[in-house]
Amino acid sequence: MAELSCNEFQEMVSEYLIRHRSVLDVMSKFQEAAARTNRAVAKSVTCCGCLEISAQKQKFPENVSLSDLKRMIDSHVTGELCPDCREALETELGQTLFYIAALCAITNLDFSEIMVKEHDRLRMLGLFNLT
Ligand SMILES: [Zn+2]
Repeated sequence: MAELSCNEFQEMVSEYLIRHRSVLDVMSKFQEAAARTNRAVAKSVTCCGCLEISAQKQKFPENVSLSDLKRMIDSHVTGELCPDCREALETELGQTLFYIAALCAITNLDFSEIMVKEHDRLRMLGLFNLT
């Protein structure tokens, strides 16, 4: 698949923003897309069963290097997405990205620039970004 730049994606989203041009529509559709993304993960656990969640308090042992600690922290997820659940989650994540790009377009923000700034922020924080 050819690489798509964030700018190309944002331009395309902007062209498709006809029916939901109002910032109120975009804000509420973004919230809905995020909720549907979470629902897709939950359904892979509760309806399909390809994923399982077993959560408990994270244990942070002392005198462990940050890189070792990174390996010890659990996502609480086991299993792998089956093809159907993968497709459903990808669709919902795509919709979420659509509305992020739409919000950027409406407010004259640059999606790509935001990604670069966040990337730089993460690089600066490094492993200390454990919140
Ligand atoms: Zn599944």
